[in-house]
Amino acid sequence: MKTTSLLAIASLMFLRTVSAADVEPPVVTPGNHGSAPSDAMVLFDGKDLSAWTSEKGGEPAWKVENGYAEVRESGIMTKEQFGDIQLHVEWASPAEVKGDGQGRGNSGVYFQGRYEIQVLDSYNNKTYFNGQAASFYGHNAPLVNACRKPGEWQQYDIVFHAPKPAADGTVVPGSFTVIHNGVLVQDHILVKGDATTAARFSGATPTGPLLLQNHGNPVHYRNIWVRKLN
Ligand code: MG
Repeated sequence: MKTTSLLAIASLMFLRTVSAADVEPPVVTPGNHGSAPSDAMVLFDGKDLSAWTSEKGGEPAWKVENGYAEVRESGIMTKEQFGDIQLHVEWASPAEVKGDGQGRGNSGVYFQGRYEIQVLDSYNNKTYFNGQAASFYGHNAPLVNACRKPGEWQQYDIVFHAPKPAADGTVVPGSFTVIHNGVLVQDHILVKGDATTAARFSGATPTGPLLLQNHGNPVHYRNIWVRKLN
């Protein structure tokens, strides 16, 4: 057999030894009913906001009581920076309905401080479609409106792949997949790197903070955890 053939066989054997199919997946103990799996980073367990700062710097002003945090004064962002992630977050819009449209139970989850998945009381509350609950704000409406009633706990399970800056200055798009209360509402939507809020952060970047928005409404949050995917 020729040397080149031997090399080809050897390289194929090497490729096979490192292919993903041969690597045993790590064992993860799953949570129950939305609780964090064993490999998750818990960002808020209902007790304290030690993983967060105010977006203006310093300690968050949000009220923590009865296992939830209530929006106050300014947004909060994680001390940790994230790239591609799976995020679980539970929220409730105020039980006492005030305002309408974008003024009712408005908050939001910003990935990398840039791309907002909208939190809004969209139960019998019309607004523009790419601004209602579970929209990729300003970009894409949800497939359906899966909102629960005001005051009821709701959950988002979100897979985010960050847009990546390329060496030539262009952006490789990322994506959002969002499940709202068990219902698929964003199905691998492209994230092209144009931020919802350009003022605070701009440009595609490998990592950035998660940010929960203050929009002047006392929205509640609980049970927030994340799994890094890269
Ligand atoms: Mg918002």
